[in-house]
Amino acid sequence: MKIIVCLKTVPLPGTVKVDPETHRLIRESSQLIINPYDRFALEMAVRLKETSGGQVWVVSMGPPQAKEALIEALGCGADEVFLLSDRSFAGSDTLATSYALARAIEKMAPFDLIVCGKVAIDGETAQVGPELAQRLGVPSVTQVVAASTEEGALKVTRVLDHAREELRVALPALITVERDWGRPRLPSLKRLLAAQNREIPVWGAAEVAAEPDKIGFSGSPTEVVEVFSPTYDGQGEIIQGDNVEEMVGRLVSILRERGLI
Ligand SMILES: Cc1cc2nc3c(=O)[nH]c(=O)nc-3n(C[C@H](O)[C@H](O)[C@H](O)COP(=O)(O)OP(=O)(O)OC[C@H]3O[C@@H](n4cnc5c(N)ncnc54)[C@H](O)[C@@H]3O)c2cc1C
Repeated sequence: MKIIVCLKTVPLPGTVKVDPETHRLIRESSQLIINPYDRFALEMAVRLKETSGGQVWVVSMGPPQAKEALIEALGCGADEVFLLSDRSFAGSDTLATSYALARAIEKMAPFDLIVCGKVAIDGETAQVGPELAQRLGVPSVTQVVAASTEEGALKVTRVLDHAREELRVALPALITVERDWGRPRLPSLKRLLAAQNREIPVWGAAEVAAEPDKIGFSGSPTEVVEVFSPTYDGQGEIIQGDNVEEMVGRLVSILRERGLI
């Protein structure tokens, strides 16, 4: 079974700065870490490899510094890693990101399973996984907390707000993985040392035959209009009274006055 993990590097919380003019993250000023959900994605892929055999390949689209994260992925059990990095990818929204990743995965094909994190803690859209599945024409299951192989299919458990679903999905497929269902392993020292000498392939737009008008700013239909911290300047009012009926009556009249009911 060949499993491809999509691993994103994200700024370490607290090190993020936003350019006041362009409203974009100044990524160069941030320390990068592996998106926490993607650690769980990698762990699930490596556990599947350990039980069912096969290989785990990892792809990341990001700046050259993302190589460090890929070395860590090798240390955690990945067999091959690939970095998708090119200035022309800058400014990509989720549509352009999923396009570029799909082009890279098509180059890495064939595959049985794609594993993504549920969400990236910086962009926080949770769109890239399902978009990628759509682009590659495979079924997808989100918010997975357990997976095992079963005769050409994957048996998965996915969590909902107040329930769990057991599903069987035909392979090839894509899953997105929740966090906190287990403990992602630390990289092994032996594997990390071996990984230091590995040549990590870096693919640009040309290597994955990405069309220029589908990547970067020109391939991104969304635009960040403004980024700001919300302010809360409404005044609270505590309704007091001798009994509940009186207080509820006062509440209802306030809501009516403000046109809320
Ligand atoms: C208008 C706009 C402009 C933007 N400009 C820039 C920019 O200039 N530079 C920039 O770096 N970002 C930019 N972004 C952010 C970029 O679009 C997102 O980081 C990216 O599309 C992923 O979206 P997300 O963070 O919401 O990921 P989610 O959809 O929440 O991620 C879910 C999962 O998808 C996978 N995944 C997501 N992204 C990657 C990746 N890059 N590599 C591998 N796997 C991945 C991971 O498994 C992840 O757990 C921009 C976004 C918008 C909307």
